[in-house]
Amino acid sequence: MTVGIQPRTITVPKRLLLGPGPSELDPEVARALSLPSLGHLDPAMVEIMQDIKRLLQYTFVTRNEATLAVSGTGTSAMETALANVIEPGDKVLVGIMGYFGDRLAQITAKLGGQVIRVEAEWGKAIDPDMIIARIKEVTPQVVCLVHAETSTGVVQPEIEHISSAAHEVGAVLVVDTVTSLGGQPVKVDDWGIDVCYSAGQKCIGAPSGLSPITFGELALDKINKRTTPVSSFYLDLNLLRNYWDSQQYHHTISAPLVYALHTALDKIQQEGLENRWKRHEINQRAFLAGVEALSLDLLAEKDHRLNTLITIKTTEDIAERTIRQELLNDYSIEVGGGIGPFQGKLLRIGLMGYGSRREFIIQLLAALESILR
Ligand code: PLP
Repeated sequence: MTVGIQPRTITVPKRLLLGPGPSELDPEVARALSLPSLGHLDPAMVEIMQDIKRLLQYTFVTRNEATLAVSGTGTSAMETALANVIEPGDKVLVGIMGYFGDRLAQITAKLGGQVIRVEAEWGKAIDPDMIIARIKEVTPQVVCLVHAETSTGVVQPEIEHISSAAHEVGAVLVVDTVTSLGGQPVKVDDWGIDVCYSAGQKCIGAPSGLSPITFGELALDKINKRTTPVSSFYLDLNLLRNYWDSQQYHHTISAPLVYALHTALDKIQQEGLENRWKRHEINQRAFLAGVEALSLDLLAEKDHRLNTLITIKTTEDIAERTIRQELLNDYSIEVGGGIGPFQGKLLRIGLMGYGSRREFIIQLLAALESILR
C-alpha cells in the first residue's frame, strides 16, 4: 500500500530584523546563498576562502596571519578563542558588564581556568582603571572582555589601555566584538588585542554560522608553549589553520555561508570601513532623536552607548512585551527584549550592517509612535 505524502513547503514571513541579531541581509548577500554548491576543497572554494581571510584582515584592521572564520555561531568563536589560549589552572581575569561577559566566565570555568571577575552593574561600562588595577594585582595569564555588550547596549572604552596593562604582566587579551565589528571602530593591531572574534550575523551582515576570528603573535606564542593539548578537536586553532591555509581536511565548511560571508565582507570593503562606522554613528543619532521625541528613556549612558544597538527602558505603562508583539504582528518588525535583570524591562534595537538605514529607522519610529500613542 502506498501512502501519499503531501509535500510540505515552508513559508516564512518577511520580517524587518531590527533586533540584537540576526540583522537584515543585503539582497546581494541573500542571493549569494543560492549560488551552486562547491566541494570544500575545490580550488574555486579555496580561492574564495583565501579572499575571505584578506577581507577579514581588512575588517579587523590587522596584519595577523592567523585570521579565519570558524564554522559555527559567535559562541563557537568565543570557545575557539578561550579553548586555545587558556590552560587548566590559568588565572583568567574576566570583565563582566552583562550577559556575554558572564558567558566568557562560564566558558573559562569549563576549560579549567581560574575565573577572576571584574564587574560593572548591568547598563554601565567597567571602569578601565579598575580593570587595570586588578590586572596588576592578580597578574593573570589571560584577560578577556566584551567590547560591545549586546545585553545592555554598552561599549567598553579604553581597550588599548587595558591591553597595555595586560601586556605588562605578560597576559593575552581576548576581546569579543560580536556586536561591534563592521559597525563601529575596532582596531585589532592599534589597540593591541591578541585574540579578537565576532559573528557573521550582526554588523558584518552575513547569516549566522561563520564567525570571524584573529590571533596575534603573543597569543600564538602562548598556544605554542602549551603544556596540555587543546581540549577541542573542532576548535583547535592549529588544525583550523591547516585547513584554511594548507587545505588539510578538517571539516566540511558550508559553501553557501562562505559565499554569503565573502559577499558581506566585500560590501564592507567597497563601502570603506570608516564610512561604514560613520553611517552607523549617523543613523544611531537619527534614531535617538526620534526616541527622544517619543519621550522614551535610554539605558546606556551617553558616553558608553553603542552605535549598533540601542537599549530603551520600558515601564508598566509601556510594556515591553506588548510593544514587541505589536511590532511583530502589525508591522512585521522584530526588535529584542531585555534579558537577565532587564527581562521585561528593555527594548533592544539593532541598527547593524544593512539594517542601519534611514528608511528602516523611519519605518520603526513610525510604528513605535502609533503603538505608543
Ligand atoms: N557575544 C556577544 C557579545 C553576543 O552578542 C553574542 C550573541 O548575540 C554572542 C557572543 C554569541 O553569538 P551566537 O548567538 O551567534 O552564538
